Amino acid sequence: MPELPELEFCSRSLTRWSAGRRVTGVEVRDPRSVRASRTDRPTAGRPDGEAVLRRVVLEAEPGPILRHGKRLLWRFGTQALLLHLGMTGRWTRKEHPHTRLSLHLSDGSALHFADARLLGGVVPTTHLAGLGLLTEGLGPDALREPLPPLHGRRPVKVVLMDQTVIAGLGNLHAAEALWRAGIDPRLAAESVTGTRHDALARGVSEQLRAALDLLDQDEEIVYVEDRGAPNPFPLYQRGGQPCPRCGAPIGKFTQAGRTTWWCAGCQG
Ligand SMILES: [Zn+2]
Repeated sequence: MPELPELEFCSRSLTRWSAGRRVTGVEVRDPRSVRASRTDRPTAGRPDGEAVLRRVVLEAEPGPILRHGKRLLWRFGTQALLLHLGMTGRWTRKEHPHTRLSLHLSDGSALHFADARLLGGVVPTTHLAGLGLLTEGLGPDALREPLPPLHGRRPVKVVLMDQTVIAGLGNLHAAEALWRAGIDPRLAAESVTGTRHDALARGVSEQLRAALDLLDQDEEIVYVEDRGAPNPFPLYQRGGQPCPRCGAPIGKFTQAGRTTWWCAGCQG
């Protein structure tokens, strides 16, 4: 599932692929992929989606893409698109079996939005409104901004995944960052202070940068859930295997409905 590194990779790829080109054609294969608001519901597709999308992307040169947490805003002059990837969405240059819409560019190339589960989509908006929507309700960005102080009795992993506290971390990268920091995912967030907080800030930063470096090795996005994709992470889906740091078996438990992998040996 895309988290901050995958969204950052998407923003860099689309910015690079569209630089110096214009959108000359729009092909909406699934009208549910153009939404009136940022939502996971495919039924929320807007009936006039293709016409609205054309007005946004054919009018002006594509600008760079802004990212905050897991949200992306792609500027087209005074207009913009919010890009929502949901759980399985991705932007690619190669045709993909689940392509929902395509943008044809002036150099003959095309950019495709593919999404198997269609929880993602694009939301046409103005650039000004988009800037508000980009950060509305979100905490600081987990890659560019310092880890804020953590409060309350909720487990630290649950708080790390709370986008209003810190934006961009999901289940996988929150667990791996806690492992890097040697912190028990069940510890109350308010106990993560001082040197523990410093270690967690480093763990988050190193985890996100390492994940981005791995993505950068490929031209197109690869998700760890994709069939046949490599799993480069020390904990993710490795229950029972030895921890690469201390050798203890990696354990897992459910936390707020999600599987948490951890090491009892070095996350005490
Ligand atoms: Zn360990």
